[in-house]
Amino acid sequence: MIQKPVEKKDILTLDIHDLNHQGEGVGKYNNFTIFVPFALPGEQVTVEIDTLKKNYAKASVKEYHTLSEERVEPPCPYYYDCGGCQLQHLSYKGQLAYKEKLIENQLIKIAQIEKPIIEPIIGMENPWYYRNKLQSPVRVKNRSEKTGVLGFFRKNSHQLVEIDHCMIQKKANNHILEILKNLLEELKIPSYQVLRTKGRKDKGIGSLRHIVSRTGHKTGETHLTLVTRTKELPNKKKLINRLQKDIPNLVGITQNINNRPTSQVFGDEFIELWGQQYIKDELINKQYRISPAAFYQVNPEQTEKLYNKLFEICAIDEHDRVLDAYSGIGTITLLAADKVASILGVEEVEEAVQDSFENKDINQKGNVSFLTGKVEEKQVLKEIVDFSPNTVFVDPPRKGCDEDFLQIVSEIKPQKIGYVSCDPSTLARDIGRLKAKGYKLTKVVPIDLFPQTVHVEAVALIELE
Ligand code: SAH
Repeated sequence: MIQKPVEKKDILTLDIHDLNHQGEGVGKYNNFTIFVPFALPGEQVTVEIDTLKKNYAKASVKEYHTLSEERVEPPCPYYYDCGGCQLQHLSYKGQLAYKEKLIENQLIKIAQIEKPIIEPIIGMENPWYYRNKLQSPVRVKNRSEKTGVLGFFRKNSHQLVEIDHCMIQKKANNHILEILKNLLEELKIPSYQVLRTKGRKDKGIGSLRHIVSRTGHKTGETHLTLVTRTKELPNKKKLINRLQKDIPNLVGITQNINNRPTSQVFGDEFIELWGQQYIKDELINKQYRISPAAFYQVNPEQTEKLYNKLFEICAIDEHDRVLDAYSGIGTITLLAADKVASILGVEEVEEAVQDSFENKDINQKGNVSFLTGKVEEKQVLKEIVDFSPNTVFVDPPRKGCDEDFLQIVSEIKPQKIGYVSCDPSTLARDIGRLKAKGYKLTKVVPIDLFPQTVHVEAVALIELE
């Protein structure tokens, strides 16, 4: 067995030379890798080893000896406690450079492209207060109290950090945090807690476990979902009344029931409590209805740039037949419909597809169709083959595209594939797979949709060789 050169609780001094994909500093001690949260490249730090794994250790900073020129004072008072942001201690210029490099490294390492063409990342002028969606857990403060507090989970944990203002959330969502904090207390709303007993399954008790709000950046419409463990929520009527009165631009309230002890926010059942069961919003020149269960990008200002970039690099025109795979509520589908002959959207979440049909009517687009199902399902693949697109857009979740789906796409041989990605490692993996099927990567454009966090969005053009 290889002797590890460090032990838990060891104190040592390290030079940080890189940042990993979680935004942690990377140092070496006798060639053994050590990850150090809140340390930056170029810094020398004394650390204490917290956890030891086979190939690496994690350590926390005890003392900074030299500081990076890119280090800034995090403006958020919760930053070092809350798991929501990871890069507030790095200048915004530094964050953008880090994200470009992350994509480049993955393309070199995983897709084995020697010199990928990466355009400069598109950042935000003001990288704060951008999120249109708030998803805040509610937990009891301590076991003797039933009423809960709101906040976010600490990194890699289900421990709640109580928060009443978040610097990456839009004003409307911060307002909801503030109002609910007081209402939960005033109306004694019983909140969720997880009971852990050794040797037994975790058990949830109490009721209110999450609040989820969405606000339209162009319309200002705000919608709130109360996620509860039980259908009954004591004082529900009073709570609804007060929320209606106290939250400006609130258009509707929905309840979602989730009684499973999982980290997934929503359960399957949605119940109408009051008003409109969605928000309306606009992106570029299209109007959309967005239901709580449907995906919608969280940074609308940057999303417009993302979609425009996708259309620009794919150079779509009126001769194109386009497949929009992973189409959500039909955002990309309906915008592209203005420019192309016809377009087919495919999406697995039923509620999102219902929204996309509605959105097709709102925007009066005749050359659009939508299909419900997983893009890799046999029946769906058959319809895609029949549609025979010459351009394909894909916008998958973090896990990337299914291999069966990519296989069929490569057999249809569309000239261009426009890939919208929220995870550079699966983007690189899928580009590698497409390379083996006769495609080449033309270029990648990173777009910063998630300032202050390590998340990276990019759009890539992949063409038939
Ligand atoms: N293009 C949309 C949605 C992108 S998010 C937009 O820009 O708003 C990814 C979407 O893919 C989600 O709506 C998710 O529900 C859907 N999805 C995930 N896996 C899928 C699969 N295997 N087949 C079809 N849709 C899928």
